[in-house]
Amino acid sequence: MGRYDGRVVVVTGAAQGIGFGCATRFAEEGASVAILDLDEANAAAAAAKLPVSTGSTGKVAHVGVGCDVSDGAAVDAAVARVVDELGGIHVLVNNAGITRDNLLFKMTEDDWDLVMNVHLRGAFLMTKAAQKHFVEQKYGKILNLSSVSALGNRGQANYSAAKMGVQGLTRTLGIELGPFGINANAIAPGFIATEMTDATAARLKMDVEEFRQLNAEANPVKRVGFPEDIAAAAAFLCSDEASYITGQTLYVDGGAKLG
Ligand code: NAP
Repeated sequence: MGRYDGRVVVVTGAAQGIGFGCATRFAEEGASVAILDLDEANAAAAAAKLPVSTGSTGKVAHVGVGCDVSDGAAVDAAVARVVDELGGIHVLVNNAGITRDNLLFKMTEDDWDLVMNVHLRGAFLMTKAAQKHFVEQKYGKILNLSSVSALGNRGQANYSAAKMGVQGLTRTLGIELGPFGINANAIAPGFIATEMTDATAARLKMDVEEFRQLNAEANPVKRVGFPEDIAAAAAFLCSDEASYITGQTLYVDGGAKLG
């Protein structure tokens, strides 16, 4: 009996990285998982790699859906498809994200808009589409991905503003949706080894291992994080054991923000 038997979990941007790590953990704990990502083929290939468990509800299916989370019509269609194909929606993880780093004086309007649209508009649209079902069934869990960069990070004016915005959104969702049996929380990861941080290494013209080592040394636990570290916290925050926790942001960063 898994904690997520009979639950349908939607994870955005889950074809790789943290999202795929979370999707895998939810699937291991019995959930039916919908992987949403920009490219339908990538999403479907990732969904096909998820473990299939046989919980109390029998064989558990997963699905991969192509969806740009910043496109309202695509979001509504994706959520409707998930409900139709997997039989409902109980947990939403707003994980899709991008970076367009640059110092402020070089940052273009497009760099700003793109980052805001994926992180903030995307979380807003996905949550709005899911909450209809959550309110109706008086049950739902929302998890938003923030970042330690929310506290400020050189070269990331757009990203840090979006990630602090995610924390404000999370607090407000906690207030508005709590009376309907819905919890909303956020995780703010520190450095997690994924394609996103590998791309940052490439941009800085650094070797990936050297970049990871540098970031490992910069925090108290002296290692970088992995998608599994975020997935473990996600599986707790979206579970019924965490039903008295809402509106919170949990930093999962090896102590990086302690200074
Ligand atoms: P990642 O490896 O780059 O994965 C992000 C995924 O999101 C990719 O599959 C990407 O698809 C997808 N995506 C991008 N734009 C999208 C859109 N408009 N609609 C749907 N999907 C979209 O990133 P990650 O490192 O796993 O990060 C996941 C989340 O954690 C992000 O919100 C990120 O900001 C946050 N975070 C990461 C770290 C870290 O150190 N890695 C730290 C703090 C916070 P494509 O590949 O096709 O573009």
